[in-house]
Amino acid sequence: MSASLATVAYIGAIILFIMSLGGLSNPETARRGNFLGMAGMALAVFATVLGPRVTAAGIPWIVGALVVGGGIGLYAAKKVQMTQMPELVALMHSLVGLAACLVGFASYVDTSTVFPTPVEKTIHEVEIYIGILIGAVTFSGSIIAFGKLSGRIGGKPLLLPGRHLMNLAGLLVVAYFGYVFLQSHDVNAGMLPLLVMTVIALLFGIHMVMAIGGADMPVVVSMLNSYSGWAAAATGFMLSNDLLIVTGALVGSSGAILSYIMCRAMNRNFFSVIAGGFGGGAPAPAAAGGAAQPAGEVVPVSAAETAELLKESKSVIIVPGYGMAVAQAQHTVFEITKLLRDKGVNVRFGIHPVAGRMPGHMNVLLAEAKVPYDIVLEMDEINEDFPTTDVTIVIGANDIVNPAAQDDPTSPIAGMPVLEVWKAKTSIVMKRSMASGYAGVDNPLFYKENNRMLFGDAKKMLDEVLVALRA
Ligand code: NDP
Repeated sequence: MSASLATVAYIGAIILFIMSLGGLSNPETARRGNFLGMAGMALAVFATVLGPRVTAAGIPWIVGALVVGGGIGLYAAKKVQMTQMPELVALMHSLVGLAACLVGFASYVDTSTVFPTPVEKTIHEVEIYIGILIGAVTFSGSIIAFGKLSGRIGGKPLLLPGRHLMNLAGLLVVAYFGYVFLQSHDVNAGMLPLLVMTVIALLFGIHMVMAIGGADMPVVVSMLNSYSGWAAAATGFMLSNDLLIVTGALVGSSGAILSYIMCRAMNRNFFSVIAGGFGGGAPAPAAAGGAAQPAGEVVPVSAAETAELLKESKSVIIVPGYGMAVAQAQHTVFEITKLLRDKGVNVRFGIHPVAGRMPGHMNVLLAEAKVPYDIVLEMDEINEDFPTTDVTIVIGANDIVNPAAQDDPTSPIAGMPVLEVWKAKTSIVMKRSMASGYAGVDNPLFYKENNRMLFGDAKKMLDEVLVALRA
Protein backbone atom coordinates (compact mmCIF):
# COMPACT_ATOMS: atom_id res chain seq x y z
CA MET A 1 0.00 0.00 0.00
CA SER A 2 1.44 3.39 -0.97
CA ALA A 3 2.00 6.12 1.63
CA SER A 4 -0.80 8.27 0.22
CA LEU A 5 -3.29 5.37 0.23
CA ALA A 6 -2.34 4.60 3.85
CA THR A 7 -2.94 8.27 4.73
CA VAL A 8 -6.38 8.17 3.09
CA ALA A 9 -7.17 5.00 5.06
CA TYR A 10 -6.00 6.72 8.28
CA ILE A 11 -8.29 9.68 7.60
CA GLY A 12 -11.15 7.23 6.98
CA ALA A 13 -10.38 5.50 10.30
CA ILE A 14 -10.31 8.84 12.15
CA ILE A 15 -13.71 9.79 10.70
CA LEU A 16 -15.11 6.40 11.74
CA PHE A 17 -13.75 6.87 15.29
CA ILE A 18 -15.35 10.31 15.59
CA MET A 19 -18.67 8.95 14.27
CA SER A 20 -18.32 6.06 16.71
CA LEU A 21 -17.96 8.44 19.67
CA GLY A 22 -21.00 10.37 18.41
CA GLY A 23 -22.99 7.11 18.25
CA LEU A 24 -21.94 6.05 21.75
CA SER A 25 -23.39 9.23 23.25
CA ASN A 26 -26.94 7.91 22.95
CA PRO A 27 -28.29 4.44 23.87
CA GLU A 28 -30.32 4.26 20.67
CA THR A 29 -27.28 4.73 18.45
CA ALA A 30 -24.71 3.03 20.72
CA ARG A 31 -24.77 -0.29 18.83
CA ARG A 32 -24.07 1.50 15.55
CA GLY A 33 -21.35 3.51 17.30
CA ASN A 34 -19.68 0.27 18.36
CA PHE A 35 -19.74 -1.11 14.83
CA LEU A 36 -18.28 2.10 13.44
CA GLY A 37 -15.48 1.92 16.04
CA MET A 38 -14.75 -1.70 15.10
CA ALA A 39 -14.71 -0.82 11.39
CA GLY A 40 -12.37 2.12 12.08
CA MET A 41 -10.00 -0.06 14.09
CA ALA A 42 -9.97 -2.80 11.41
CA LEU A 43 -9.18 -0.18 8.75
CA ALA A 44 -6.46 1.34 10.93
CA VAL A 45 -4.79 -2.03 11.56
CA PHE A 46 -4.90 -3.01 7.87
CA ALA A 47 -3.54 0.35 6.72
CA THR A 48 -0.69 0.10 9.24
CA VAL A 49 0.22 -3.52 8.53
CA LEU A 50 0.05 -3.11 4.76
CA GLY A 51 1.42 0.46 4.86
CA PRO A 52 4.85 1.64 3.70
CA ARG A 53 6.53 1.41 7.12
CA VAL A 54 6.18 -2.37 7.51
CA THR A 55 8.57 -4.56 5.56
CA ALA A 56 7.63 -8.01 4.25
CA ALA A 57 9.90 -9.60 6.86
CA GLY A 58 7.90 -7.95 9.65
CA ILE A 59 4.49 -9.21 8.49
CA PRO A 60 4.71 -12.76 10.01
CA TRP A 61 5.62 -11.20 13.38
CA ILE A 62 2.66 -8.85 13.22
CA VAL A 63 0.27 -11.62 12.15
CA GLY A 64 1.57 -13.81 14.99
CA ALA A 65 1.05 -10.99 17.50
CA LEU A 66 -2.43 -10.30 16.10
CA VAL A 67 -3.42 -13.96 16.43
CA VAL A 68 -2.09 -14.25 20.01
CA GLY A 69 -3.40 -10.83 21.18
CA GLY A 70 -6.71 -11.20 19.32
CA GLY A 71 -7.15 -14.73 20.74
CA ILE A 72 -6.57 -13.53 24.31
CA GLY A 73 -8.97 -10.59 23.74
CA LEU A 74 -11.65 -12.86 22.28
CA TYR A 75 -11.31 -15.33 25.15
CA ALA A 76 -11.45 -12.54 27.77
CA ALA A 77 -14.47 -10.90 26.13
CA LYS A 78 -16.35 -14.21 26.00
CA LYS A 79 -15.43 -15.23 29.56
CA VAL A 80 -15.92 -11.94 31.38
CA GLN A 81 -19.07 -11.52 33.47
CA MET A 82 -20.93 -8.23 33.16
CA THR A 83 -19.94 -7.42 36.77
CA GLN A 84 -16.25 -7.89 35.87
CA MET A 85 -16.34 -5.41 32.99
CA PRO A 86 -14.96 -2.46 35.02
CA GLU A 87 -11.98 -4.58 36.11
CA LEU A 88 -11.38 -5.70 32.53
CA VAL A 89 -11.47 -2.08 31.34
CA ALA A 90 -8.93 -1.13 34.06
CA LEU A 91 -6.69 -3.99 32.95
CA MET A 92 -6.95 -2.85 29.30
CA HIS A 93 -5.91 0.67 30.33
CA SER A 94 -2.86 -0.80 32.06
CA LEU A 95 -1.86 -2.48 28.77
CA VAL A 96 -1.99 0.86 26.92
CA GLY A 97 0.31 2.33 29.59
CA LEU A 98 2.67 -0.63 29.37
CA ALA A 99 2.76 -0.34 25.57
CA ALA A 100 3.67 3.35 25.82
CA CYS A 101 6.58 2.48 28.17
CA LEU A 102 7.87 -0.33 25.95
CA VAL A 103 7.60 1.77 22.78
CA GLY A 104 9.42 4.59 24.60
CA PHE A 105 12.36 2.40 25.62
CA ALA A 106 12.46 0.74 22.18
CA SER A 107 12.52 4.15 20.42
CA TYR A 108 15.30 5.30 22.70
CA VAL A 109 17.60 2.33 22.15
CA ASP A 110 16.84 2.36 18.40
CA THR A 111 19.64 4.56 17.08
CA SER A 112 18.89 3.90 13.41
CA THR A 113 16.90 7.14 12.99
CA VAL A 114 19.09 10.04 11.95
CA PHE A 115 17.79 13.45 13.06
CA PRO A 116 18.63 16.32 10.69
CA THR A 117 19.02 18.83 13.54
CA PRO A 118 19.82 18.56 17.29
CA VAL A 119 16.51 20.29 18.02
CA GLU A 120 14.57 17.46 16.36
CA LYS A 121 16.54 14.92 18.37
CA THR A 122 15.73 16.79 21.59
CA ILE A 123 12.03 16.94 20.66
CA HIS A 124 12.07 13.18 20.08
CA GLU A 125 13.70 12.61 23.46
CA VAL A 126 11.15 14.84 25.19
CA GLU A 127 8.41 12.76 23.54
CA ILE A 128 10.08 9.59 24.85
CA TYR A 129 10.47 10.96 28.39
CA ILE A 130 6.88 12.24 28.63
CA GLY A 131 5.49 9.14 26.88
CA ILE A 132 7.16 6.78 29.34
CA LEU A 133 6.12 9.00 32.27
CA ILE A 134 2.42 8.97 31.32
CA GLY A 135 2.61 5.29 30.35
CA ALA A 136 4.15 4.22 33.67
CA VAL A 137 1.62 6.20 35.76
CA THR A 138 -1.23 4.74 33.67
CA PHE A 139 0.17 1.22 33.95
CA SER A 140 0.65 1.03 37.72
CA GLY A 141 -2.42 3.19 38.51
CA SER A 142 -4.64 0.95 36.38
CA ILE A 143 -3.29 -2.22 38.01
CA ILE A 144 -4.22 -0.80 41.45
CA ALA A 145 -7.63 0.30 40.09
CA PHE A 146 -8.10 -3.26 38.82
CA GLY A 147 -7.27 -4.56 42.31
CA LYS A 148 -9.71 -2.16 43.96
CA LEU A 149 -12.56 -2.78 41.52
CA SER A 150 -12.18 -6.56 41.79
CA GLY A 151 -12.06 -6.39 45.58
CA ARG A 152 -8.49 -7.75 45.74
CA ILE A 153 -7.41 -4.46 47.35
CA GLY A 154 -9.63 -2.76 49.96
CA GLY A 155 -11.52 0.44 49.08
CA LYS A 156 -10.13 2.42 52.03
CA PRO A 157 -7.71 5.19 51.03
CA LEU A 158 -4.10 4.61 52.02
CA LEU A 159 -3.04 7.93 53.50
CA LEU A 160 0.72 7.96 54.05
CA PRO A 161 2.01 10.76 56.29
CA GLY A 162 3.33 13.67 54.20
CA ARG A 163 1.95 12.17 51.00
CA HIS A 164 1.55 15.51 49.22
CA LEU A 165 5.15 16.38 50.02
CA MET A 166 6.22 12.97 48.74
CA ASN A 167 4.36 13.54 45.47
CA LEU A 168 5.89 17.00 45.12
CA ALA A 169 9.38 15.64 45.79
CA GLY A 170 8.75 12.92 43.18
CA LEU A 171 7.73 15.57 40.64
CA LEU A 172 10.90 17.60 41.29
CA VAL A 173 13.10 14.50 40.96
CA VAL A 174 11.35 13.60 37.68
CA ALA A 175 11.96 17.15 36.37
CA TYR A 176 15.63 17.00 37.42
CA PHE A 177 16.23 13.62 35.80
CA GLY A 178 14.43 14.89 32.70
CA TYR A 179 17.12 17.57 32.46
CA VAL A 180 19.88 14.98 33.01
CA PHE A 181 18.28 12.73 30.37
CA LEU A 182 18.22 15.48 27.76
CA GLN A 183 21.87 16.34 28.48
CA SER A 184 23.00 12.71 27.98
CA HIS A 185 25.11 12.22 24.88
CA ASP A 186 24.49 8.52 24.34
CA VAL A 187 21.98 5.79 25.13
CA ASN A 188 24.06 4.38 28.00
CA ALA A 189 24.20 7.72 29.80
CA GLY A 190 20.49 8.44 29.22
CA MET A 191 19.28 5.04 30.38
CA LEU A 192 19.82 5.66 34.11
CA PRO A 193 17.72 8.86 34.38
CA LEU A 194 15.07 7.21 32.19
CA LEU A 195 14.91 4.17 34.48
CA VAL A 196 14.85 6.30 37.67
CA MET A 197 11.97 8.38 36.25
CA THR A 198 10.09 5.18 35.26
CA VAL A 199 10.37 3.76 38.78
CA ILE A 200 9.17 7.05 40.32
CA ALA A 201 6.27 7.24 37.85
CA LEU A 202 5.29 3.63 38.66
CA LEU A 203 5.37 4.40 42.40
CA PHE A 204 3.39 7.59 41.84
CA GLY A 205 0.67 5.68 39.93
CA ILE A 206 0.39 3.15 42.80
CA HIS A 207 0.40 5.88 45.46
CA MET A 208 -2.13 8.07 43.64
CA VAL A 209 -4.79 5.36 43.24
CA MET A 210 -4.13 3.77 46.65
CA ALA A 211 -4.86 7.15 48.28
CA ILE A 212 -8.27 7.40 46.64
CA GLY A 213 -11.23 6.19 48.67
CA GLY A 214 -14.07 3.99 47.43
CA ALA A 215 -16.46 6.87 46.77
CA ASP A 216 -14.04 8.58 44.37
CA MET A 217 -13.26 5.50 42.29
CA PRO A 218 -15.66 6.46 39.43
CA VAL A 219 -13.53 9.52 38.75
CA VAL A 220 -10.35 7.43 38.89
CA VAL A 221 -11.76 4.96 36.36
CA SER A 222 -12.56 7.74 33.88
CA MET A 223 -9.30 9.57 34.67
CA LEU A 224 -7.22 6.46 33.89
CA ASN A 225 -9.25 6.10 30.72
CA SER A 226 -8.14 9.61 29.82
CA TYR A 227 -4.50 8.87 30.77
CA SER A 228 -4.53 5.77 28.55
CA GLY A 229 -5.56 8.04 25.66
CA TRP A 230 -2.72 10.46 26.34
CA ALA A 231 -0.32 7.51 26.65
CA ALA A 232 -1.48 6.31 23.21
CA ALA A 233 -1.06 9.84 21.79
CA ALA A 234 2.47 9.97 23.25
CA THR A 235 3.19 6.62 21.57
CA GLY A 236 1.94 8.17 18.32
CA PHE A 237 4.43 11.02 18.69
CA MET A 238 7.29 8.58 19.37
CA LEU A 239 6.39 6.51 16.30
CA SER A 240 5.43 9.55 14.18
CA ASN A 241 2.05 7.91 13.62
CA ASP A 242 -0.64 10.55 13.02
CA LEU A 243 -3.51 8.12 13.47
CA LEU A 244 -2.31 7.10 16.92
CA ILE A 245 -1.90 10.75 17.91
CA VAL A 246 -5.45 11.64 16.84
CA THR A 247 -7.00 8.47 18.32
CA GLY A 248 -5.11 8.94 21.58
CA ALA A 249 -6.22 12.56 21.76
CA LEU A 250 -9.85 11.52 21.16
CA VAL A 251 -9.70 8.98 24.00
CA GLY A 252 -7.72 11.36 26.23
CA SER A 253 -10.08 14.28 25.81
CA SER A 254 -13.30 12.24 26.01
CA GLY A 255 -11.96 10.59 29.19
CA ALA A 256 -11.16 14.04 30.60
CA ILE A 257 -14.68 15.27 29.78
CA LEU A 258 -16.11 12.13 31.44
CA SER A 259 -13.97 12.75 34.54
CA TYR A 260 -15.35 16.29 34.69
CA ILE A 261 -18.94 14.99 34.35
CA MET A 262 -18.30 12.40 37.07
CA CYS A 263 -16.82 15.05 39.38
CA ARG A 264 -19.83 17.29 38.83
CA ALA A 265 -22.20 14.36 39.44
CA MET A 266 -20.45 13.70 42.74
CA ASN A 267 -20.07 17.38 43.66
CA ARG A 268 -16.31 16.91 43.84
CA ASN A 269 -13.40 18.99 42.73
CA PHE A 270 -11.05 17.14 40.35
CA PHE A 271 -7.95 18.19 42.30
CA SER A 272 -9.44 17.05 45.61
CA VAL A 273 -10.06 13.66 43.98
CA ILE A 274 -6.43 13.40 42.92
CA ALA A 275 -5.33 14.55 46.38
CA GLY A 276 -7.18 11.47 47.67
CA GLY A 277 -8.63 10.50 51.01
CA PHE A 278 -12.35 10.94 50.28
CA GLY A 279 -15.00 8.38 51.18
CA GLY A 280 -12.92 5.84 52.95
CA GLY A 281 -13.08 6.48 56.66
CA ALA A 282 -15.74 5.23 58.99
CA PRO A 283 -18.61 7.69 59.33
CA ALA A 284 -18.13 10.01 62.29
CA PRO A 285 -20.89 9.70 64.87
CA ALA A 286 -23.60 12.31 64.27
CA ALA A 287 -25.21 14.27 67.10
CA ALA A 288 -27.80 12.26 69.02
CA GLY A 289 -31.06 12.28 67.14
CA GLY A 290 -29.34 13.87 64.14
CA ALA A 291 -31.01 13.26 60.82
CA ALA A 292 -28.32 10.93 59.55
CA GLN A 293 -27.97 8.89 62.71
CA PRO A 294 -28.96 5.29 61.92
CA ALA A 295 -31.73 4.69 64.41
CA GLY A 296 -34.55 2.30 65.07
CA GLU A 297 -35.29 -0.97 63.44
CA VAL A 298 -35.58 -1.96 59.83
CA VAL A 299 -38.95 -3.24 58.61
CA PRO A 300 -38.64 -6.31 56.39
CA VAL A 301 -41.28 -7.12 53.76
CA SER A 302 -41.98 -10.22 51.69
CA ALA A 303 -42.11 -10.45 47.91
CA ALA A 304 -45.90 -10.91 48.11
CA GLU A 305 -46.29 -7.72 50.17
CA THR A 306 -44.07 -5.88 47.70
CA ALA A 307 -46.29 -7.07 44.84
CA GLU A 308 -49.38 -5.84 46.72
CA LEU A 309 -47.81 -2.40 47.20
CA LEU A 310 -46.95 -2.26 43.51
CA LYS A 311 -50.45 -3.31 42.45
CA GLU A 312 -51.96 -0.50 44.48
CA SER A 313 -49.63 2.21 43.19
CA LYS A 314 -50.10 4.63 40.32
CA SER A 315 -46.48 5.69 39.98
CA VAL A 316 -43.32 3.68 40.59
CA ILE A 317 -39.66 4.64 40.28
CA ILE A 318 -37.08 1.87 40.04
CA VAL A 319 -33.53 2.71 41.14
CA PRO A 320 -31.01 0.09 40.04
CA GLY A 321 -27.51 -0.22 41.50
CA TYR A 322 -24.52 -2.51 41.50
CA GLY A 323 -26.53 -5.36 43.11
CA MET A 324 -28.80 -5.55 40.05
CA ALA A 325 -25.69 -6.20 37.94
CA VAL A 326 -24.47 -8.86 40.40
CA ALA A 327 -27.85 -10.61 40.47
CA GLN A 328 -28.36 -10.16 36.69
CA ALA A 329 -31.91 -9.15 37.54
CA GLN A 330 -32.44 -6.75 34.64
CA HIS A 331 -34.60 -9.13 32.56
CA THR A 332 -37.01 -9.76 35.47
CA VAL A 333 -37.04 -6.01 36.11
CA PHE A 334 -38.15 -5.55 32.50
CA GLU A 335 -40.91 -8.20 32.87
CA ILE A 336 -42.23 -6.47 36.01
CA THR A 337 -42.06 -3.08 34.28
CA LYS A 338 -44.02 -4.40 31.30
CA LEU A 339 -46.67 -5.97 33.50
CA LEU A 340 -47.13 -2.84 35.63
CA ARG A 341 -47.25 -0.58 32.57
CA ASP A 342 -49.91 -2.83 31.03
CA LYS A 343 -51.93 -2.27 34.20
CA GLY A 344 -51.59 1.51 33.71
CA VAL A 345 -48.90 2.15 36.35
CA ASN A 346 -46.45 4.92 35.48
CA VAL A 347 -43.08 3.10 35.82
CA ARG A 348 -39.82 4.97 35.37
CA PHE A 349 -36.16 4.38 36.17
CA GLY A 350 -33.85 6.76 38.04
CA ILE A 351 -30.19 6.41 37.09
CA HIS A 352 -27.43 7.86 39.23
CA PRO A 353 -24.31 8.85 37.23
CA VAL A 354 -22.05 6.64 39.37
CA ALA A 355 -24.43 3.70 39.89
CA GLY A 356 -22.71 0.34 39.46
CA ARG A 357 -19.00 0.13 38.84
CA MET A 358 -18.46 1.96 35.56
CA PRO A 359 -19.95 4.96 33.78
CA GLY A 360 -23.20 3.96 32.05
CA HIS A 361 -23.25 0.55 33.80
CA MET A 362 -27.00 0.62 34.53
CA ASN A 363 -27.94 2.02 31.11
CA VAL A 364 -26.13 -0.89 29.44
CA LEU A 365 -27.94 -3.47 31.58
CA LEU A 366 -31.37 -1.91 31.03
CA ALA A 367 -30.74 -1.57 27.29
CA GLU A 368 -29.72 -5.25 27.20
CA ALA A 369 -33.08 -6.12 28.82
CA LYS A 370 -34.86 -3.94 26.23
CA VAL A 371 -36.26 -1.41 28.73
CA PRO A 372 -37.55 1.54 26.62
CA TYR A 373 -35.11 4.47 26.72
CA ASP A 374 -37.81 7.08 27.27
CA ILE A 375 -38.60 5.79 30.79
CA VAL A 376 -34.93 5.70 31.84
CA LEU A 377 -34.18 9.10 33.38
CA GLU A 378 -31.04 10.71 34.79
CA MET A 379 -30.88 11.68 38.49
CA ASP A 380 -31.39 15.39 37.75
CA GLU A 381 -34.44 14.66 35.60
CA ILE A 382 -36.24 12.52 38.17
CA ASN A 383 -35.16 13.67 41.63
CA GLU A 384 -37.99 16.14 42.11
CA ASP A 385 -40.62 13.51 41.21
CA PHE A 386 -40.04 11.30 44.28
CA PRO A 387 -42.49 13.20 46.56
CA THR A 388 -45.33 12.43 44.12
CA THR A 389 -44.33 8.77 43.72
CA ASP A 390 -46.16 5.90 45.45
CA VAL A 391 -43.40 3.28 45.52
CA THR A 392 -39.69 3.45 44.88
CA ILE A 393 -37.88 0.14 44.42
CA VAL A 394 -34.17 0.25 45.08
CA ILE A 395 -32.57 -2.81 43.48
CA GLY A 396 -29.12 -3.55 44.88
CA ALA A 397 -28.22 0.14 45.22
CA ASN A 398 -26.81 1.62 48.39
CA ASP A 399 -24.40 4.59 48.22
CA ILE A 400 -26.39 6.36 45.49
CA VAL A 401 -29.53 6.49 47.69
CA ASN A 402 -27.81 7.33 50.99
CA PRO A 403 -29.51 10.34 52.68
CA ALA A 404 -26.42 10.83 54.87
CA ALA A 405 -24.79 12.47 51.84
CA GLN A 406 -27.28 15.33 52.33
CA ASP A 407 -28.04 15.22 56.03
CA ASP A 408 -24.76 14.45 57.73
CA PRO A 409 -21.86 16.83 57.06
CA THR A 410 -19.52 14.41 58.87
CA SER A 411 -20.39 11.53 56.53
CA PRO A 412 -17.50 10.40 54.30
CA ILE A 413 -19.81 10.92 51.29
CA ALA A 414 -21.22 14.30 52.44
CA GLY A 415 -22.04 16.53 49.49
CA MET A 416 -22.47 13.76 46.92
CA PRO A 417 -25.83 14.22 45.15
CA VAL A 418 -28.08 11.19 45.68
CA LEU A 419 -31.45 9.92 44.45
CA GLU A 420 -33.97 11.04 47.08
CA VAL A 421 -35.92 7.76 47.18
CA TRP A 422 -37.05 8.27 50.79
CA LYS A 423 -39.31 11.12 49.65
CA ALA A 424 -41.67 8.64 47.95
CA LYS A 425 -44.71 7.38 49.92
CA THR A 426 -42.92 4.03 50.39
CA SER A 427 -39.42 2.95 49.48
CA ILE A 428 -38.43 -0.70 49.23
CA VAL A 429 -34.73 -1.61 49.31
CA MET A 430 -33.76 -4.98 47.86
CA LYS A 431 -30.45 -6.38 49.07
CA ARG A 432 -29.19 -9.49 50.75
CA SER A 433 -28.09 -8.10 54.11
CA MET A 434 -27.43 -4.89 56.03
CA ALA A 435 -23.93 -4.68 54.49
CA SER A 436 -22.73 -1.28 53.30
CA GLY A 437 -22.06 -0.34 49.68
CA TYR A 438 -18.79 0.33 47.83
CA ALA A 439 -17.95 3.42 49.90
CA GLY A 440 -18.27 1.40 53.12
CA VAL A 441 -20.73 3.89 54.64
CA ASP A 442 -23.79 3.02 56.78
CA ASN A 443 -27.13 3.95 55.18
CA PRO A 444 -29.80 5.68 57.34
CA LEU A 445 -32.37 5.09 54.55
CA PHE A 446 -32.86 1.54 55.79
CA TYR A 447 -34.16 2.78 59.16
CA LYS A 448 -36.60 5.37 57.84
CA GLU A 449 -40.25 4.91 58.81
CA ASN A 450 -41.55 4.66 55.25
CA ASN A 451 -38.79 2.28 54.14
CA ARG A 452 -39.14 -1.48 53.81
CA MET A 453 -36.35 -4.02 53.31
CA LEU A 454 -36.81 -6.94 50.93
CA PHE A 455 -33.87 -9.14 51.88
CA GLY A 456 -32.47 -11.67 49.41
CA ASP A 457 -30.80 -11.97 46.04
CA ALA A 458 -32.38 -9.35 43.77
CA LYS A 459 -33.09 -11.79 40.93
CA LYS A 460 -34.71 -14.36 43.23
CA MET A 461 -36.79 -11.73 45.02
CA LEU A 462 -37.92 -10.07 41.79
CA ASP A 463 -38.88 -13.47 40.34
CA GLU A 464 -41.09 -13.98 43.39
CA VAL A 465 -42.55 -10.48 43.02
CA LEU A 466 -43.32 -11.23 39.35
CA VAL A 467 -45.07 -14.50 40.24
CA ALA A 468 -47.12 -12.68 42.91
CA LEU A 469 -48.00 -9.88 40.47
CA ARG A 470 -49.20 -12.41 37.89
CA ALA A 471 -51.26 -14.35 40.44
P1 NDP B 1 -23.16 0.02 46.12
O1 NDP B 1 -21.87 -0.67 45.90
O2 NDP B 1 -23.20 1.20 47.00
O3 NDP B 1 -24.22 -1.01 46.74
C1 NDP B 1 -24.56 -2.18 46.07
C2 NDP B 1 -25.44 -3.00 47.01
O4 NDP B 1 -25.90 -4.11 46.26
C3 NDP B 1 -24.67 -3.55 48.19
O5 NDP B 1 -24.97 -2.85 49.36
C4 NDP B 1 -25.10 -5.03 48.27
O6 NDP B 1 -25.71 -5.29 49.55
C5 NDP B 1 -26.15 -5.15 47.16
N1 NDP B 1 -26.03 -6.42 46.43
C6 NDP B 1 -24.92 -7.03 45.99
N2 NDP B 1 -25.23 -8.19 45.39
C7 NDP B 1 -26.57 -8.28 45.42
C8 NDP B 1 -27.49 -9.25 44.95
N3 NDP B 1 -27.11 -10.37 44.32
N4 NDP B 1 -28.81 -9.03 45.16
C9 NDP B 1 -29.24 -7.93 45.82
N5 NDP B 1 -28.41 -6.98 46.29
C10 NDP B 1 -27.09 -7.16 46.08
O7 NDP B 1 -23.76 0.32 44.68
P2 NDP B 1 -24.40 1.65 44.08
O8 NDP B 1 -24.72 1.30 42.67
O9 NDP B 1 -25.48 2.15 44.98
O10 NDP B 1 -23.24 2.72 44.13
C11 NDP B 1 -22.09 2.60 43.34
C12 NDP B 1 -20.85 2.77 44.19
O11 NDP B 1 -19.73 2.31 43.45
C13 NDP B 1 -20.59 4.22 44.55
O12 NDP B 1 -19.99 4.32 45.81
C14 NDP B 1 -19.62 4.64 43.46
O13 NDP B 1 -18.83 5.73 43.88
C15 NDP B 1 -18.79 3.36 43.32
N6 NDP B 1 -18.11 3.21 42.02
C16 NDP B 1 -18.75 3.53 40.86
C17 NDP B 1 -18.08 3.47 39.65
C18 NDP B 1 -18.77 3.94 38.40
O14 NDP B 1 -18.07 4.33 37.47
N7 NDP B 1 -20.07 3.87 38.32
C19 NDP B 1 -16.68 2.98 39.57
C20 NDP B 1 -16.15 2.55 40.84
C21 NDP B 1 -16.84 2.68 42.01
P3 NDP B 1 -25.76 -6.78 50.11
O15 NDP B 1 -24.36 -7.27 50.14
O16 NDP B 1 -26.38 -6.61 51.45
O17 NDP B 1 -26.61 -7.57 49.18
